[in-house]
Amino acid sequence: STALVWLRNDLRLQDNPALAAACGQAEHVVALYIHETDESLRPIGAAGRWWLDRSLEDMGAALAGIGIALRVETGSAEAVLAKAIEATGASALHWNRRYGPAERSVDAGIKTRFSAAGIATQSHPGNVLVEPWLIQTGQNRPYSVFTPFWKTLKGTEIPRPVGKPEGPSIAQPKGHNHTPPSWALKIAHYWEVGEQAAQARLTDFLAEVVRDYPEGRDFPAKTLTSKLSPHLRFGEISARQIWHAAQAFAHVHPEQAGAVDKFLSELAWRDFSYHQLYHRDDIANVPMHDKFAELGWRHAPKHLQAWQRGQTGFPIIDAGMRELWETGYMHNRVRMLVASFLSKNLLIDWRQGERWFWDCLVDADAANNPASWQWVAGCGLDAAPYFRIFNPVTQGERFDARGDYVRAWVPELSGLPDKFIHQPFAAPSSVLANAGVTLGTTYPKPMVDLKTTRQQALDAYSALGTAS
Ligand code: FAD
Repeated sequence: STALVWLRNDLRLQDNPALAAACGQAEHVVALYIHETDESLRPIGAAGRWWLDRSLEDMGAALAGIGIALRVETGSAEAVLAKAIEATGASALHWNRRYGPAERSVDAGIKTRFSAAGIATQSHPGNVLVEPWLIQTGQNRPYSVFTPFWKTLKGTEIPRPVGKPEGPSIAQPKGHNHTPPSWALKIAHYWEVGEQAAQARLTDFLAEVVRDYPEGRDFPAKTLTSKLSPHLRFGEISARQIWHAAQAFAHVHPEQAGAVDKFLSELAWRDFSYHQLYHRDDIANVPMHDKFAELGWRHAPKHLQAWQRGQTGFPIIDAGMRELWETGYMHNRVRMLVASFLSKNLLIDWRQGERWFWDCLVDADAANNPASWQWVAGCGLDAAPYFRIFNPVTQGERFDARGDYVRAWVPELSGLPDKFIHQPFAAPSSVLANAGVTLGTTYPKPMVDLKTTRQQALDAYSALGTAS
């Protein structure tokens, strides 16, 4: 018998329940990835597409190593699957679940159609720690606050990873036969794509970094987070593999149990985002608190562009936006700062920022990206209160005190002394001259006044009434 495995966000051999089930039940297994063209689905962003192509190459080689062919097709999932089933004579179809409303609707339609045609169609859990419907409040409702969600999640048994399927293990040379877009070359410089790279990153992170994670994770000049996010996005590693590996590590190194717990609580935010994606409508477009639909966002394309290009005149904001453009990634603390600056100081709709991130991030995630944007803008679940408006100067001074992060990404300011690195506009002209900085020429003047725009945001947000 032949089984078809439809791969989506799960490009790994280990802990891949759909693949394991297909291999356990059928003599022949064919894997299929579909670049889906269904209009209801959100198309992948450019940086994500680059990662995906590399990851598919890696997965194709890994699958070939266990005697499974990977077909990569483009089209509507239902039509492509129908053809593949006909061509292979498959009698079973397996996939790991996805959680967005539009994706679920596509999957449900496919399940109905193929089950009716006698194909054993089976979906599996594997992409989150706990299926979003299995975790609920005492009143049997979805969670809207993180801390009790985390408590419940911690008390839930997280399924153990399933093993890698057996196969003839024919070593396959890695093929690099596609030509990436030229802009991707710079991003490629920063990352290693694929399941083995993901596992190596986790191992290194646990061995060398996690102990410093609780204090270090907020400092963008240091690499004290795991950088597992793009691997998680494409399922090159699963959250539950991370969970169990980290727990095992803490067992052997009890003195680091607290640090591991902090790390896992951040990982649980990902599940919390998926909880929202599953239980809410269209989180990339609809504010989770209704009243925010009324907010009078400014239409300010020039301001939006200055933000996107890292030309706002606020060094930490510009450093973050340039890190994103250059590497396809941005440190979490700085993501919060640039998102607050856009949605509050510039009063530009958070959805504009979310879309830019969606296109530029290699970890652009259908749950984490919109949920985090809504969180910063104030309309999300358990969100930062609207009056919390980060000040990019004081935040910079606090989390990048010596200016290392700014100097790395905004080299035209590197000659400034630490005292002015986060506010070149406050430096005396002699200091600017010494550092070779001419505001308005070599580096932009601040595009807005922080104090005035802060007040405008407070006024706009507090005018929103109390309905939520
Ligand atoms: P680590 O600190 O090592 O954490 C490990 C994993 O836990 C992460 O890979 C991620 O899966 C999860 N995690 C950690 N922090 C968060 C968080 N605050 N919310 C949700 N999950 C978290 N994360 C994405 O994966 N994709 C996105 O598209 C994305 N967009 C964001 C947009 C904004 C405006 C903000 C403020 C945050 C966004 N995040 C997003 C969350 C967070 O910034 C990244 O997950 C984190 O920076 C990734 O780096 P890391 O893997 O080194 O994180």
